[in-house]
Formats: sequence, structure tokens, C-alpha cells
Amino acid sequence: MTPDQAVKDLAATEIQPRARVLAMPEYHPPLGHRDRLRLDFNENTLACSPAVKTALENISATDLTRYPEREPVEALVANYLDVAPEQVLLTNGVDEAIHVLCQAFLDAGDELLLPVPTYTMYEIYASSTDATLRKVQAADDFRFPFESLLGAINARTRIIAIANPNSPTGSVATREQILAIAQAAPGAIILVDEAYFHFYGQSVIDLVGKVPNLVVARTFSKAYGLAGLRLGLLAGPESLLRWVRRVLSPYSVNSVALAALTAALKDQSYIDWYVAQVKQARAEFLSGLTGLGLDYWPTEANFVLVNIGATHREFVAAMREQGILVRDRSADPGCLGCVRITIGTPEQMRTALTAVESFLKSNPAGASK
Ligand code: PMP
Repeated sequence: MTPDQAVKDLAATEIQPRARVLAMPEYHPPLGHRDRLRLDFNENTLACSPAVKTALENISATDLTRYPEREPVEALVANYLDVAPEQVLLTNGVDEAIHVLCQAFLDAGDELLLPVPTYTMYEIYASSTDATLRKVQAADDFRFPFESLLGAINARTRIIAIANPNSPTGSVATREQILAIAQAAPGAIILVDEAYFHFYGQSVIDLVGKVPNLVVARTFSKAYGLAGLRLGLLAGPESLLRWVRRVLSPYSVNSVALAALTAALKDQSYIDWYVAQVKQARAEFLSGLTGLGLDYWPTEANFVLVNIGATHREFVAAMREQGILVRDRSADPGCLGCVRITIGTPEQMRTALTAVESFLKSNPAGASK
């Protein structure tokens, strides 16, 4: 056979992925042209701490020649969270944490139990494994579906993922509810994803190591303003994290991110300041929405889910026209007509409220369900 013929033959063959990957839903975050007021991804809408900027400027060319060393920074983070160093695993964002947790624990015959609507990536990563997904729909009030979640636990339940506060709803599960679920599912990992912890203020991280099936996730993408660096973590008992460590690349968190994290942890006053800004803006913006006659769900996060109704697409487009990006969540289970709006600073949210108001003026039906 000539090389030309071999190349021709090979070009006609197609390699298929594993069956589960073939059936996986695709996830394309609507990025691009985001040089506007970004109220669409629940990021910090301003900047990270100036101390982080300085740390990044001090990274030398030689520093970059080394492989990253995660462990010393894990020890710092552990100290900050008041857990043991072995109880912390730094990851390339919480997304990677979810991915490796699924890889380490979900087998054929296992179930991932998920209250919905919730953060998309639990489903995406679970569907790349051989486990199945069991969803529990929240009621129209979007409160944490505690009773139905308890009722859905069975012998196959392997991971229960609870975003607390939840996205896109902003609702929360109480500590008592989380403990009751951990108790009802002793053979399952209860992943409590505290990505939005700072805007809520309540955590179960103090239970890490005490409740043997509890794993908490935290991100530095939100309050810390480091989404671009990809920094997240899992905090859990060493008996569980050791298996996750096996499937995680030792270098998945790069050295620039590690240097930034070290500086970020030292500047607590920046976080306190930013969170206070968001909380003030949240109170003002929500009362503004009420004033405009819009329905929304109570929120403990840096975003709010608003019921725009039939004109949700026009709303998102009109906001974009005014330079404000918001996120249509209408395709999420139970969220028809809903748009999620990130809360930034009071000034940014006054701009956003003015834009919402002008949309409603030209679309008076917009406020109807
Ligand atoms: N968990 C939740 C509940 C989120 O909303 C998000 C971000 N959208 C993440 C995790 C992902 O965080 P990270 O940027 O650390 O991957």
C-alpha cells in the first residue's frame, strides 16, 4: 500500500468515544463580547484585590520554569479554613473539583442525586461516568426540596450535590437539612458547593472531618474575583480526598494561580469590602425590582433570578443593547421566562435598574408571568 492510499483509507475511519461520552450533553457557556457590564456569570464585577495584582507582577521568568507546588498553598488554605492540610485539595476551579469527584466515586449502577434547577456542571460531569442521574425538581417557590430529596435517597445514591446557595435560584439549604441528608445517606458523598458562601455567610465547613461523608467545595472565582485563574477547592475527610487526589493531576493548579491565591488569602479586608458592596447593592436592587412590579426569588447569593415572563429573550437583548449582560435561564427546569442577574456594586446595579425600567416602559407586558 502506498502512503497516499494509507492516508486515504485512514481518513475514512472515524473513532467513536465511549458510549456515555457520545450521549453527553454539550455545554457551551455564552462567552464572547463581554467587555460590558458583566451581570451574566456571577463573577466579581470589578477586580481582584490589588495585593493579588502586585503578587502577579512579582512573578519572575525563572519562577515560571518550575512545576507548581500545590501542597504549601494547601496548608495555607487549610489554616485559613481551620481544617487539617490533608483535608484540603486545591483544584482548577470548582468545575475540576466536581469532575474529579465524579471520576473517583461514580461507577456503573451508582446514582448522582441532584435537586434541580441547579448548577449545570454536576450533570455534565456525572454524565461522563457510567453512573445515572436522579433529579428532584424544586417546587415553584424554588425552596430547597428537602423532603423530596430525602425521599429519593436509595442504596445506589453515591453523590448528592447541593449548591448552597444554589444557582440559578439563590435559595439555601439549612445546616439541619444538610445533616439530615448526610445521616439518611451514609453511603453517599454529600457535596455542599459553597461557591457563593461569602454572600450568604453560613457554612458547614466546620463539620469537615466530623461528618464522614461531607465534602465542601469553595471557589475563588466569585467574591475573590479570580475566575480567570481557575482556583477552587474541596474540603473533606482525608479518607475521601485521598481517592480524589489519585485522579487529579498534581499540576492542575498552575503556579501563577498559586501565587495569586497566597496573596488573596492575606487580604481579607478586600473580600469584606467587596461582599459589603454586593450586599448593599442586592438590598437596593431587589427593592427596585419590587418597585417595578417584577417577581423574583429570595436570594442569598450575588445574583437574583427574575421572572420576566414571555418576553425574556427580548429582555436579555434589550439589556445587551444598553451594554448590560444578563443570563437567560429559561431552559433550566421549572425556569420558563426567568433571567438571572448578577449583583455587582451599588452603582452598577443602579445602572442595571434603570435599564430594566426602560425595558418595562417599552414592554409593559414584560412583568406578566
Ligand atoms: N459551583 C457553582 C454553584 C457555580 O455557580 C459555579 C460557577 N458558575 C461553580 C461552581 C464553578 O466555579 P469555578 O469557577 O471555581 O469552576
